[in-house]
Amino acid sequence: MLSQEILSRFQCSGCGECCRWTGSVLLTDADIPKMAAHMGLSEQEFIDRHTRLAPNRRQLALLDQPDGSCAFLAGNRCTIYAARPEQCRTFPFAWSVPAGCPELDKLLAGEKNIEREDDNP
Ligand code: SF4
Ligand code: SF4
Repeated sequence: MLSQEILSRFQCSGCGECCRWTGSVLLTDADIPKMAAHMGLSEQEFIDRHTRLAPNRRQLALLDQPDGSCAFLAGNRCTIYAARPEQCRTFPFAWSVPAGCPELDKLLAGEKNIEREDDNP
């Protein structure tokens, strides 16, 4: 778990890297009506057009592009940013993956350098 101190200094650069990982953008029950309404679709239309069954077989996930990036990514931008799923809204504050975000990596590398300086006064 990342420290609150690190997270308080985190600033997203909008590079879009976290939307390019291969893997599933899992949807909660609350995500679906919100995203459907944002797109002017019924929930069933949204599910049929934009989701697939996740590998855990308990949830739906957003469709991917051929390179594994999220289907809603265009350039570096999320085309449904205002209604993006909880999994996206809470990264990296509630969860993160190793080497998953360049800006987080910079903060963590800076933290390690400070620790090394403290070790060698
Ligand atoms: S990888 Fe990190 S810096 Fe890049 S868009 Fe995602 S959260 Fe922002
Ligand atoms: S929904 Fe938006 S923020 Fe979430 S992975 Fe897709 S493009 Fe990125």
